[in-house]
Amino acid sequence: MTSTQADEFNPTVYLNGDWGPLSEARIPVLDRGFIFGDGIYEVVPLYAQAGGARLPFRLAQHLARLNRSLGKIRIENPFDDAGWRALIQRAIDANAGEGDAIVYIQVTRGVAKKRGHAFPAGIAPTVFVMQSPLVLPSDASRAQGAVAVTAEDKRWLHCDIKSTSLLGNVLMAQHAAEHDALETIQLRDGLLTEGSSSNVWIVAGGTLLGAPRGPRILEGIRYGLIEELAAEAGIAFEERDITEAELRAADEIMISSATKEVMPITTLDGKPVGSGRPGPVYAALYDAYQRAKAREFASQASRAG
Ligand code: PMP
Repeated sequence: MTSTQADEFNPTVYLNGDWGPLSEARIPVLDRGFIFGDGIYEVVPLYAQAGGARLPFRLAQHLARLNRSLGKIRIENPFDDAGWRALIQRAIDANAGEGDAIVYIQVTRGVAKKRGHAFPAGIAPTVFVMQSPLVLPSDASRAQGAVAVTAEDKRWLHCDIKSTSLLGNVLMAQHAAEHDALETIQLRDGLLTEGSSSNVWIVAGGTLLGAPRGPRILEGIRYGLIEELAAEAGIAFEERDITEAELRAADEIMISSATKEVMPITTLDGKPVGSGRPGPVYAALYDAYQRAKAREFASQASRAG
């Protein structure tokens, strides 16, 4: 089975053991994901290769985070890594086509018999897997850099869990949209936390700074990757508190996520960031990111061969 027209979004999706078109996938209204946002998710980027195959990037790390998120909300992982890999491969195979993509995975606590906040006994998790197209930022938008705005981070203090309870993030993304910005950069108690759906990095005096891992941010799969890429490119890196003043005085600001890779922010709250152009640290990290992808895909190909 393949998805229909490229312009008609109706991929073949997995829901609780069945594969079928998205338009026919249904969950009961008492699913805890619907009623309470009681679930977690993952987004794994898939890159189109010459020859048509799509390969996941950093899948092992995404599956490890999925397992950690489930553990933190006490849902038993319904699959081991081999089981997840098989499901993801089937989603890829069932939706062949052109271009890059993502695989979205959602696991909720399952369907309760009645509404009640505490965990119901004896229910099985709901598992959903869907492939969607990924359009990476264009070369022109990278050359230009993106606009960001700031806002107070009003989310709960378990931002380390990749929870489907995303209301705080949704409101921040809407705030960006209403200000013609790509992202809202959040501050809590005068310190940088993260974007609505990205990690945020600044450059000060040639050093790359990232907000500390912990409950105030989601540790992106790109967090560890950016650390590795900085080391490879000979860029000093520090994981530490970043003040609002440091953010506003930064020579460079960039965001990272599965769908943006690493993307320069050249305007913050209407003012230019540094020179107002994407900076050298961004350029070095972006190049290193592309090399890391090429290396990983070459090693996947050699394992497959
Ligand atoms: N923080 C938040 C709140 C996010 O939603 C995301 C994107 N999933 C990230 C950070 C970046 O994570 P990753 O690098 O795994 O995409």
